[in-house]
Amino acid sequence: MFAETITSTLIAGLLIAAALLAIGLALLVTRRPAAAAANEPRCPECGNDLAGIQGLRCTACGYTAWHASEFYQRRRPAARIVLGVALVVAGLALVALVVLADR
Ligand SMILES: [Zn+2]
Repeated sequence: MFAETITSTLIAGLLIAAALLAIGLALLVTRRPAAAAANEPRCPECGNDLAGIQGLRCTACGYTAWHASEFYQRRRPAARIVLGVALVVAGLALVALVVLADR
């Protein structure tokens, strides 16, 4: 009975940790479509060509920019990197916690 509880907690913890790691790594690893000329507006999320659109919303994926300059950035936004690293660290910490708690 007690052992069963510990095992299910362990499995649940590892599953959550795996999910955090997967999402974090996906944020860090996935790349956008090849960079276009810097003077062409592109969606920072999906790479859709936004030349001629009105407003700050991507017509393909619905991404809404805070500022039009985002459409001209070719780097991954810092927030995406921070979130990715945070998720990976959280996932690893959870693994460590679960493994240590299981001893
Ligand atoms: Zn888009």
